[in-house]
Amino acid sequence: MAKGKIQMVLHLPFAICPLKFFWTMPELPEVETVSQGLKRRALGRRIIAVEVFHSGVIVGPPEQFAAEIEGRAIVSVRRKGKVLALELSAESGPPRHLLVRLGMTGRFTVAACEAPREPHTHVLLRLGEREELRFRDARRFGRLRSCSCEELEAVWVRLGPDAQEATEEEFLNALRGHRGALKSWLMNQRLLAGLGNIYADESLFLARIHPLAQPGRLSLRTARRLFRAVRKVLDTAVKLQGTSFRDYLDIEGRPGNYEQRLRVYQRTGKPCRRCGQPIRRIVIAGRSSHFCPHCQPRPRHIAKKRGSRL
Ligand SMILES: [Zn+2]
Repeated sequence: MAKGKIQMVLHLPFAICPLKFFWTMPELPEVETVSQGLKRRALGRRIIAVEVFHSGVIVGPPEQFAAEIEGRAIVSVRRKGKVLALELSAESGPPRHLLVRLGMTGRFTVAACEAPREPHTHVLLRLGEREELRFRDARRFGRLRSCSCEELEAVWVRLGPDAQEATEEEFLNALRGHRGALKSWLMNQRLLAGLGNIYADESLFLARIHPLAQPGRLSLRTARRLFRAVRKVLDTAVKLQGTSFRDYLDIEGRPGNYEQRLRVYQRTGKPCRRCGQPIRRIVIAGRSSHFCPHCQPRPRHIAKKRGSRL
């Protein structure tokens, strides 16, 4: 590795298409990829110094943040849904946790200390004498927070079961009694943690369910099909290190290749890969939903509006 060269980019969670720029939130597979990268490169290492260049990405006073995490080693990396928590060693007091929300464009890189800083580097965590963990975030929706064990627990309990780890029973229980659009249910982090727009659309397509179906009215058979579809989509996306729409190369040579597997997301007007019908887009709760009107038929309990082609 050449001196001064950034050694690793853990993830690039934004998307670019040829016609326009659009941004996607990192979802469970992208956050899991970041988590695995942190385990490989930062786990067991001690944070010997902290520098904050933009206090907007820190929750609370930056001086307090730095004082609370400096000198502690990273002893575990955990993820629930889209939230990451780095457990920091107990030194003179109880352990602390570094809670990380990547927001839209938050990312970590591990770099040699002398390497030039890339734009939007807001926080540096020195890992020993030679390397540092850098937090970059162009849009600054990401947040780093120093938490006690109790504060971390309070964050975890507000989230539903992790979408990749939920049991079938937990999943079916969470569906029970809910009205509104199934697409919105899938993206509600308090009910099921981890899915955003991309993987919710893809899971619904795989399960052959219309995005406007009501969660509480799915048959048991259909609900089980959805459970299996969510798991399959997430497992595959994690294996492929998530989705990025740019010809992006991880310096360790790990491409994020799930976009080649996308069946409906951002494919409006293109033929369905299963039946050839054009993929449609509708807006549900302010978010685009992509689906195949043939493979994901409108459920009987959803009234058909006049002129609607749903
Ligand atoms: Zn189709």
